[in-house]
Amino acid sequence: MLAQMQTRMLIDGDWTEGAASERFEVVDPATGEGIAEVAAGTAADALAACDAAEAAQRKWAAAAPRERSEILRACYQTLLEHSSEIAELITREHGKPQADALGEVAYSAEFFRWNAEEAVRVHGSVSLAPSGDKRIITRHPPVGVVAMVTPWNFPAAMIARKVAPALAAGNATVIKPARDTPLTALRLAQLLEEAGVPPGLVNVVPTRSSGAWFDAVVDHRAVRMVSFTGSTEVGRTLLRRCADRVLKVCMELGGNAPFVVFADADLDAAVAGAMVAKMRHSAEVCTAANRFFVEAPVAEEFTERFAESMAAVRVGNGFEPGVTCGPMINPGAVDSIDALVQDALGHGARKVNGGGPVDGPGFFYEPTVLADVDASSPITRSEIFGPVAPVIAFDDTNAMIAAANDTEMGLIGYVYTGDLAKGLHVSERIEAGMVGINRGAVSDPAAPFGGMKQSGLGREGASEGIYEFCETQYIAADW
Ligand code: NAD
Repeated sequence: MLAQMQTRMLIDGDWTEGAASERFEVVDPATGEGIAEVAAGTAADALAACDAAEAAQRKWAAAAPRERSEILRACYQTLLEHSSEIAELITREHGKPQADALGEVAYSAEFFRWNAEEAVRVHGSVSLAPSGDKRIITRHPPVGVVAMVTPWNFPAAMIARKVAPALAAGNATVIKPARDTPLTALRLAQLLEEAGVPPGLVNVVPTRSSGAWFDAVVDHRAVRMVSFTGSTEVGRTLLRRCADRVLKVCMELGGNAPFVVFADADLDAAVAGAMVAKMRHSAEVCTAANRFFVEAPVAEEFTERFAESMAAVRVGNGFEPGVTCGPMINPGAVDSIDALVQDALGHGARKVNGGGPVDGPGFFYEPTVLADVDASSPITRSEIFGPVAPVIAFDDTNAMIAAANDTEMGLIGYVYTGDLAKGLHVSERIEAGMVGINRGAVSDPAAPFGGMKQSGLGREGASEGIYEFCETQYIAADW
């Protein structure tokens, strides 16, 4: 399949080598070997894509919402029909197990189905001003051209979650996929065009010079919005740059999720939920549980059972049957995970299992559970982004909530308890954009995904998702 796939960039419906005719290598993290060379976009290519998007967007914005809706629905169908092929590509360049990759494709496709439904429901309003002197009409035109910068951890879904609502609202897009995972992005764009998305609306320009790419795009006159998913650190840099042209932004940034287990929780469910919240997609997920707060009476039992489940995880190439944890994305990721683990161990944490890299080839890390972790150590302050679970026992709920909230991140939290009222009460006190009660996964195209604090600005999905890609215009009228 790789031999047939597209490795050039997509600008205005044409596959091109780009201005520099240079390429960069994409590596399979399960083997450490190169699998393809992808055309490396320059600032000039990014600007050409913006020009194309500008021209295509005018026509698209004038198309009937029903027409846009039908095309998005066809995208949904096309992605489903190509599920196994896209999943294969995801596993090849990201490494996640095939089951996770297939789940990602289904999740991605759902954003097209959901936004096909939303495209015909962008409502404005008409009201009489309180003074009675005029009618207040509000409407929601599309923003225009949206620049999108996406991470490697969901090579398909983080693009689908942005492109589907952007197109539904009548926008055009210029996408910079992550350097580690451009192949899925290119194939996705090809399939969207096959499904009927007109040329110029979805442009994909991979690059190895993301700073230069971004600088060029931000200054293009037609670009009115930046939608970014990635780390908080990079998000801050992009936000500063967006300020130069007062661009609209949607920022989906890093997390540091607390996973709380109360003594009255169903421990079987809590362990199963912990495995989902920690380990799906090889633990490289913004919503991954990062700190496990377990009420003292059950802390030992939970830790033992959780460690047993972690020890049973089969680590390996995501194509091998039975593997549920693939490689980390690159050697640097393994090093930074290990640095956090070694630091915690050096500061009194107890290794229950795992605790180190797995010998190559490939970039693997052992599923690891650490007990007796100090709630203020670096491992609890950083996004681990790997299969490592620090467990912290607690006695006092108020102190636990204060510790859970003692972070600049606020993407998601998880609460396990047999008492739903307590679960709701604690959820309301957790400073996060999303909370799962007795659930280890919450993502759904019909729900608003996004963070509080430095985990982000704006929401993706739900009925809010499409309005992120719209302006609001108010017309004052007498009639
Ligand atoms: P990253 O911030 O390193 O990179 C994200 C994207 O930004 C990539 O395409 C990268 O090439 C690009 N980039 C980096 N520097 C840039 C610059 N100076 N100018 C323009 N673009 C630049 O993040 P990552 O390592 O790819 O992904 C992991 C991070 O993403 C984690 O922090 C994770 O929590 C976060 N994430 C958040 C969500 C969410 O919805 N909140 C979802 C997935 C991942």
